[in-house]
Amino acid sequence: MRALVKHPDEKGLRLSEIAVPEPGPDEVLIRVHATGICGTDLHIFDWDSWASENVPAPMTVGHEFSGTIEALGSSVSGFETGELVGAEGHVVCDVCRNCLAGRRHLCSGTRGIGVTIPGAFADYIVVSKSNVWRHTPGIAADIAAIFDPFGNAVHTALKFPVLGEDVLITGAGPIGVMAAAVVAHAGARNTVVTDINPYRLAIAETMGATRTVDRRHLDLKTVQRELGMHEGFDVALEMSGSPAAYADILENTIHGANVALLGIPGESFPIDWSVVIFNMLTLKGIYGRQMFDTWYKMNVFIESGLDLSPVITHRFDVSEYEEAFAVAGSDESGKVLIIWD
Ligand code: NAD
Ligand code: ZN
Repeated sequence: MRALVKHPDEKGLRLSEIAVPEPGPDEVLIRVHATGICGTDLHIFDWDSWASENVPAPMTVGHEFSGTIEALGSSVSGFETGELVGAEGHVVCDVCRNCLAGRRHLCSGTRGIGVTIPGAFADYIVVSKSNVWRHTPGIAADIAAIFDPFGNAVHTALKFPVLGEDVLITGAGPIGVMAAAVVAHAGARNTVVTDINPYRLAIAETMGATRTVDRRHLDLKTVQRELGMHEGFDVALEMSGSPAAYADILENTIHGANVALLGIPGESFPIDWSVVIFNMLTLKGIYGRQMFDTWYKMNVFIESGLDLSPVITHRFDVSEYEEAFAVAGSDESGKVLIIWD
């Protein structure tokens, strides 16, 4: 089968022929239809210091995918061949305190599909039964392929109540714009999305943002006044990893605001903790998705009409993977898909 394999000590990936994996007794063999390129994949493609320390190359990479079940391991029940599925990319240890208590998203021994174990940029992938997610029949394979980052957006957006609230989302990357769609769908009063990239802010506008703000040209106090807001945003979702966005959140949230932090800063940086204390903010770090509550909610949102299609801006055949990675790393893309069919 074809696979995009990361080799050590070189940039890029190699499109290689490798053996189709055999499912073990508790595993499922999935034929891959569509895959999404994530920021993590760009780090691996570039083979930066994080990637070279964490990825056991040579290895097939990629973790955002949809596919159909090709074969079931001998002990697997509850799934049928031909079903459209995806998979939770965090493979947990099953023995730590959190796993045993059913809080699998808090496992400290998590391995990552396509990061520390073989991934989905291939014609076939084998996944443990306990990580397979069955999609609602009829959902488009392209949309199903982005449930991993959609799950990051849903997990963050649902962490605090947003009905009737003024919500600030910093960062209009694929996850930020999907979070905007969720928050608008869930009944927020204002969904304000910031970025420094007009291409991406335009996507946020088509996905339910009440107001988009290019932070190079406009400050959030002005935006609040224009929207008739008086005391600041009730909820903030940080989805950029930028220190400047943290400052925006501290300066523009109401006393007692709820703040969910998903964006991963490139390095440590100071924030003004006195604002957190005097404004009595609640800060919540978010990682991955809740297994499998977030997945259940994703299906429900899609079934109830939430439209993610504007976030998918490009599709490439696997033979064009180098161009796909170049576009995904540029300023002018949302979610970029590689198609394997
Ligand atoms: P992305 O890098 O595509 O998007 C981030 C966006 O933030 C970009 O559009 C960028 O222009 C914008 N930005 C930069 N500076 C800004 C500023 N000062 N104010 C507002 N926006 C600014 O990322 P993504 O794929 O959408 O993911 C969002 C973030 O979440 C990233 O930091 C990513 O690393 C992180 N992430 C976290 C998890 C998790 O489990 N915690 C999972 C996936 C991704
Ligand atoms: Zn665990």
